[in-house]
Amino acid sequence: MVAALPYRGRFAPTPSGPLHLGSLVAALASYLDARVHQGDWLVRIEDIDEPRSVPGAAEIILEQLHDHGLHWHPEVLWQSQRKPRYQQVLNELQQAGLTYACDCTRQQIKARGQHYDGHCRNRQLATATHAIRFRNDGSIGAFTDRLLGHTIVNTEAAGEDFVLFRRDGWFTYQLAVVVDDIDQQITDIVRGADLIDATPWQLLLWRQLSQRQPRFAHVPLVTDAHGRKLSKQNHAQPLSALQVVGQLKQACQYLQLPLQGANSRDDILQQATRQWQRRWLP
Ligand code: GLU
Ligand code: ZN
Repeated sequence: MVAALPYRGRFAPTPSGPLHLGSLVAALASYLDARVHQGDWLVRIEDIDEPRSVPGAAEIILEQLHDHGLHWHPEVLWQSQRKPRYQQVLNELQQAGLTYACDCTRQQIKARGQHYDGHCRNRQLATATHAIRFRNDGSIGAFTDRLLGHTIVNTEAAGEDFVLFRRDGWFTYQLAVVVDDIDQQITDIVRGADLIDATPWQLLLWRQLSQRQPRFAHVPLVTDAHGRKLSKQNHAQPLSALQVVGQLKQACQYLQLPLQGANSRDDILQQATRQWQRRWLP
């Protein structure tokens, strides 16, 4: 057994645009959970996908968090500065025989089915200029979620040989997020339910790279009137510095945290912390 680490949570936005209500819900949930546990709450800028990163967006995100009173631990990590570390871990996985190169195009993969079918597993391609995939043994098809309980995932997705390094030369979110969560000693991952399908993959990497595993809590997604996830692609409204109180109240509603006559930012955060404890902690 590894001794239990002190609580450390994180919010890990991709700087592809400003935060919207959906991202505020995820940020608030992880912030409140860290606060209830008297733990650290870290912010990590997930700018590993540089083509998707928008210059200046990370600074706006930090300002938005600040406006909403979500104060983070001073250690802010930028994934774009961590490439040597990701390379080192990728080499380790390669040396352990847990990866293989793949030269399939997106069209070829799609033509064969919804999920990657392991086409290149035994082709022994040289790794240069190709994507690198993880040799998934399909051994994780479920996990325990602190909010959702025993969670069974889509087995085809869970068993897929996911990509660690892209053929266009970028490390993937799957690799970076796990390396960072391990290196930053994160104990609790509280995030949106859109990432549930990636959790088994990340747990597989955790199992390879660390002696311990984090706890997960996935919070419900905020959807628009058509039931679609609020996202930058769907043109979700950015959070406004002029509507902090209203936005926080809305976020609390999505998290099922009733407030009573709270009308300032700090009041809301205080009540919400108590309600989070009551609603989500056994
Ligand atoms: N960067 C991811 C996103 O913005 C979140 C990563 C995570 O919380 O694991 O969707
Ligand atoms: Zn392939």
